Amino acid sequence: MKKLIVFTGAGISAESGIKTFRDKDGLWEQYRIEDVATPEAWERNPAYVQEFYNFRRKQLLEVKPNAAHLALVELEKKYDVQIITQNIDDLHERAGSQKVLHLHGELLKSRSSIHKDHIYPIQGWELKMGEVCELGSQLRPHIVWFGELVPEMENAANITSHADVFICIGTSLNVYPAAGLISLTPDGIPKYLVDPGTIDQHHLKGIEHLHNKATEGVPELVALLMKDENI
Ligand code: NAD
Repeated sequence: MKKLIVFTGAGISAESGIKTFRDKDGLWEQYRIEDVATPEAWERNPAYVQEFYNFRRKQLLEVKPNAAHLALVELEKKYDVQIITQNIDDLHERAGSQKVLHLHGELLKSRSSIHKDHIYPIQGWELKMGEVCELGSQLRPHIVWFGELVPEMENAANITSHADVFICIGTSLNVYPAAGLISLTPDGIPKYLVDPGTIDQHHLKGIEHLHNKATEGVPELVALLMKDENI
């Protein structure tokens, strides 16, 4: 089976009701990155950081995968599909995708603030101050914050460099190092971007840009890829 890599950003979940960060009316209009999504914010005011992620977790439990998440599952009938997502939601998993790599962590998990390999599922929406790992340190959201290393990056880079087809969905390609993945795709393979926004041209070399929202553009692209006998 051909290896098809799907790289997703906040845009794929927008129509499920989860706001993107940089769009107008996005989350960062209401919160400042440096107050909620950095290690320094956690040191200064961990309760506020918990509150921000608790609110987002509560919202996640109320939404559902959309037609774009669901269409990607269909591709598994013909391709060896690996999703690499910048998203912290679990909508790909709930849609039924088998292989999902989260570059920036997972909202429904917590991890020890000291022992980073101690990771736990969160029951319900709330993670509280005073909840600790089995070694006694405070649990924090299992999120890669701005300024932290991206532990799965090497793995993602390796997978991407072996792609036969590459699809990018709903990402402004502004957040590095994740956005740099595109430059690691082999030359000459089919590459697509589904995003209704205006993307910096220098990111788009060799990529077919489908200017469409995810719930329309992704099912269309999936239908095309399922039919195409040359791929
Ligand atoms: P971004 O906010 O920078 O960009 C969002 C992109 O989505 C834009 O290019 C926009 O044009 C596009 N978009 C908006 N509506 C769309 C739609 N209906 N269909 C398709 N595309 C649409 O987001 P980013 O580039 O993914 O990076 C921001 C960071 O924010 C990531 O690290 C990610 O972890 C995090 N984030 C995650 C979630 C989530 O888990 N759902 C939500 C917001 C932000």
